[in-house]
Amino acid sequence: MPDQPTRVALKRAPRYDENEIQTAIESAVAALGGIEALVRHDTRVFAKVNHLSPPSPPERGIITHPAFTAAVLAVLKGHTRHVAVGDDLHPSTPEGFEVSGYRAMCNRLGVELVNLREVGFRRISCDGVVLKEVYLARSLLEADVLVNLPKLKTHSLTLFTGAVKNMYGVIPGGLRVAFHGQHKDPQEFNQVVVDIFAAARPHLTIMDGIVAMEGAGPANGSLRELGVILAGRDAVAVDAVAARIIGLDPLAVGTTRCAHERGLGVAEGIEVVGEPIAAAAVSDFRLPPVPAGAIVGRAPRFLTQFITRQIGARPRVVPRTCTGCGACAQICPTGAATVTNGKAAIDRRTCIRCMCCHEVCRFNAIALGGSALSGLIRPLLRAGRRVRPPRSTP
Ligand code: SF4
Ligand code: SF4
Repeated sequence: MPDQPTRVALKRAPRYDENEIQTAIESAVAALGGIEALVRHDTRVFAKVNHLSPPSPPERGIITHPAFTAAVLAVLKGHTRHVAVGDDLHPSTPEGFEVSGYRAMCNRLGVELVNLREVGFRRISCDGVVLKEVYLARSLLEADVLVNLPKLKTHSLTLFTGAVKNMYGVIPGGLRVAFHGQHKDPQEFNQVVVDIFAAARPHLTIMDGIVAMEGAGPANGSLRELGVILAGRDAVAVDAVAARIIGLDPLAVGTTRCAHERGLGVAEGIEVVGEPIAAAAVSDFRLPPVPAGAIVGRAPRFLTQFITRQIGARPRVVPRTCTGCGACAQICPTGAATVTNGKAAIDRRTCIRCMCCHEVCRFNAIALGGSALSGLIRPLLRAGRRVRPPRSTP
């Protein structure tokens, strides 16, 4: 018997209506063999959302929408009592889970809401390409089944963030920042993300692509209504189908390419059930300005730093909208971002273009720009990452 192709379910959901989403998710999961294949009455399930630390309401499109998560939790709760959900958040006032609506939603459903850092992390050995040990959230390690609930967004460092990148959030926040400083080479950073994904591989991924983020994601882009939900047992395949929907070559996304090459999932030969990709695909999805991780692709390592410095996107402070809140300076792994007299500034000599400041700023005060050279070659780079009219399978 030949191997069955990896399957991804694609469903349409035009709005954040819990009942409609729940119906779509039940149908998607049924097409993957049913939730019963994973979850029994005593199974402990942890659902990892993409929340990000700085407080942000769901209508900004930065986080996995709480109505989407509520629909998934309702499906899970129909099979087991042991369901928890969460992400790793810095402490803040007001609290991130309050602002996003997660606190109220979990109270209503009677589901445990976890800030991963409050439960703690445990060191485990791993055989990664870069990492040989990793600290993973206890909540994940103590669960029997890990459900991954990413948001479909662009990413100004890695081009795209979805299922694989969402698992980067299961390590301590300090390490996430430190890895940016320690692994400046974009190819190496992609491998670090995939090392963590390999150590914490989800059993089921359900992606919120109802309202996606395009342009300067993952936190300062524009909303884009795609109206799609993607579900799969293979997170890499889910990312590959999402990439096709937004007109990207899946293998142009570094995290997808590395995970595919390492046999952690597949980016090709996927069976898409439900709706065809062509019915959901858009041809004008805006990508971020020249993300370094996407530029270097498979370039030899000695070239990557040079290429990144010459044509990679650069963060730049917009003084008009900067409030001097200091979030960028707090997260910057090299000290390049500072705040003086109530305004942020970035030292170009020490900036490694990790885009942490861009991700954390909630005032759209970190813009992304490029060099004159990048302006000249950007159209060529974009053309290389784009795919031609969507096919029915990726
Ligand atoms: S750039 Fe953004 S994060 Fe940094 S101080 Fe200004 S408003 Fe805060
Ligand atoms: S200034 Fe921003 S992009 Fe540059 S190193 Fe600091 S956090 Fe990263």
